[in-house]
Amino acid sequence: MIYYERTVTDQISNNIFQRKEIKIMALVTTKEMFKKAYDGGYAVGAFNVNNMEIVQGITEAAGELNSPVILQVSKGARAYANHTYLVKLVEAAVEENPQIPIALHLDHGDTFELCKSCIDGGFTSVMIDASSKSFEENIALTKQVVEYAHDHGVVVEAELGTLAGIEDEVVVEAGHEAYTRPEEVEEFVDRTGCDSLAIAIGTSHGAYKFTAAQCTRNADGILVPPPLRFDVLEECIKRLPGFPIVLHGSSSVPQEFVKMVNQYGGNMPDAVGIPEEQLRQAAKLAVCKINIDSDIRLAMTGNIRKYFAEHPDHFDPRQYLKPARQAVKDMVAHKILHVLGSDGKA
Ligand SMILES: [Zn+2]
Repeated sequence: MIYYERTVTDQISNNIFQRKEIKIMALVTTKEMFKKAYDGGYAVGAFNVNNMEIVQGITEAAGELNSPVILQVSKGARAYANHTYLVKLVEAAVEENPQIPIALHLDHGDTFELCKSCIDGGFTSVMIDASSKSFEENIALTKQVVEYAHDHGVVVEAELGTLAGIEDEVVVEAGHEAYTRPEEVEEFVDRTGCDSLAIAIGTSHGAYKFTAAQCTRNADGILVPPPLRFDVLEECIKRLPGFPIVLHGSSSVPQEFVKMVNQYGGNMPDAVGIPEEQLRQAAKLAVCKINIDSDIRLAMTGNIRKYFAEHPDHFDPRQYLKPARQAVKDMVAHKILHVLGSDGKA
């Protein structure tokens, strides 16, 4: 076990005291993070990781802003980068940023075996997403994962309701999405024992969250999506007081990066996301975890395209991955400061 020592400054009226605090340097679960976020009216960002540059960009931003952070791995990321490589990269980030709490979470686990493999392999949190199954099947599978996870000191996120969109292997066609039914949440949480709940209130996976037909257009011709269903969120909060809520598919698809992609040879017409003010509002309520992936992809891709266009003679991957990593860091810093409100909460 590796220990980390830091000096903590306390102020009691006009007197300033300094004390040494010894902490074990290790991944943490989201339990304490969520409690503090719920009480403090902010949310913790959950960012998807697939390679070294993404892990570094995210954790450097969180470290500098003293923010807790959740690094999450999807089934697709595990297939791409391999479980061991991802865990070791995240452990390196913990060692480099000992001053902030970092959790390692499985995003959209779809079977007990996948969740078990991540629990056995060092994750501190897993999601079991059985939201496409019946209510009873969702409860049975979630409960099975919760029992194994809690026996191993790991927390579980479950999901009720179905988001539209595409994320790795999770594909829900338009028209098959369904808002969470608030009348089901208490029974679901009671019977499964899950630690947090992802709900569907109109967020969506991917960079094309809404069709043009679902949106209006502003004066600049940019699509404006339908607002999130805060009535559904508030009804869930009323029925689950003090319980952490999770929002998936919460990228905002900033138009400056869509423009950058398109300007340098890309083709992403009508990409659209969730307005950041609405996510900020949700973070002030019971939403304790907000998942952001597409915005990081977009920032990296835009910057790499720009770099290639401006430096056609360069061929060293470090040359274009460096601005890509910086773009991840800038994006995460922006989210922490202006969407999540988690800066200074480590
Ligand atoms: Zn998701």
